[in-house]
Amino acid sequence: MPVLSDILLSQNVEFKTKFKLSGVSTFKIGGEADFILFPDTAEKLVFSIRTAKEYGIAYKVVGNASNILFGDGGYRGFVISTKKMKGISVVRENNEKRDIACACGEMLPALSRRTASDFLSGLEFACGIPGTVGGAVFMNAGAHGSQISDVLLSSKAYDAQRDETLELSADEHLFSYRESVYSRAASLICLEATLSLSFADESVINSRINENMEKRRASQPIELASAGSFFKRPDGYFAAKLIDDCGLKGYRVGGAAVSEKHAGFIVNLGGASSADVLELAEYVSRTVFDKTGVRLEREVGYIERL
Ligand SMILES: Cc1cc2nc3c(=O)[nH]c(=O)nc-3n(C[C@H](O)[C@H](O)[C@H](O)COP(=O)(O)OP(=O)(O)OC[C@H]3O[C@@H](n4cnc5c(N)ncnc54)[C@H](O)[C@@H]3O)c2cc1C
Repeated sequence: MPVLSDILLSQNVEFKTKFKLSGVSTFKIGGEADFILFPDTAEKLVFSIRTAKEYGIAYKVVGNASNILFGDGGYRGFVISTKKMKGISVVRENNEKRDIACACGEMLPALSRRTASDFLSGLEFACGIPGTVGGAVFMNAGAHGSQISDVLLSSKAYDAQRDETLELSADEHLFSYRESVYSRAASLICLEATLSLSFADESVINSRINENMEKRRASQPIELASAGSFFKRPDGYFAAKLIDDCGLKGYRVGGAAVSEKHAGFIVNLGGASSADVLELAEYVSRTVFDKTGVRLEREVGYIERL
């Protein structure tokens, strides 16, 4: 069998071997991946997946790993990070709107600031979400009453099962709360998203951004490692309030704790293992269910392959 490193090098795909996944996750948790790949173009991403499939190697595409808990056992295979896939271009514009195509690795906070400085409104909600465009489309990420589905016109996808690229219209994304066609079909990878933004007064856009950031700083433990809200919002309830009402703020397992500031966040106080987080999450959901009858469902994805 040809050496995988040589194959990746032949197409200039940047990679590292025996890589501690804690180094790329906002949770700062995770064991070693055999390989982590950093393709910087859609072609290299597709090549990486084709290579994995050809040699029977497991793979997982991730963005900024801000909604992921990597397991302590790491990943036997390729973790493919889109973080280096950058690029923004204007698709069309008129006096009122501009549509922009964004590569999947563009980060939402930078995109939100950049579009604001171009007098474009629509991404004010995203200024404090530390994820990529691809991760946001996968999750239908949202905050402050808006979500990515509000501005998404279409996306370009790679279907790894059929080995073809396709264009998906807004409707074909089947968006719902924290879900999309991408989260339902594991073989679909988001390569690029086209967003439709409206021209507005820059000072109005910036004041919305500042207000959103202020709310976040006041209510979320952004100074600690985490993956954001750990649980989905159950229908008719708020996970954080349920957890707080059960007296679980500050509850700790090893290095993982329920945040004192926002009970929906599980934070890594330093040296938390994935096992600590899972045990804590299990305790929290069991306690909430026993006391309230409401089942909490994990929002954060768990990735491990032994
Ligand atoms: C401090 C903090 C605050 C947060 N606040 C919010 C918030 O307000 N609202 C919110 O919605 N989320 C929030 N999050 C969670 C997270 O930032 C978002 O869900 C974000 O959209 C995830 O993007 P990512 O690039 O990090 O995806 P990752 O965590 O890398 O991946 C998430 C999932 O998407 C898949 N994926 C990633 N990229 C692609 C791609 N290109 N194609 C197909 N699948 C892909 C991965 O396989 C994985 O299953 C927060 C997280 C933190 C740490």
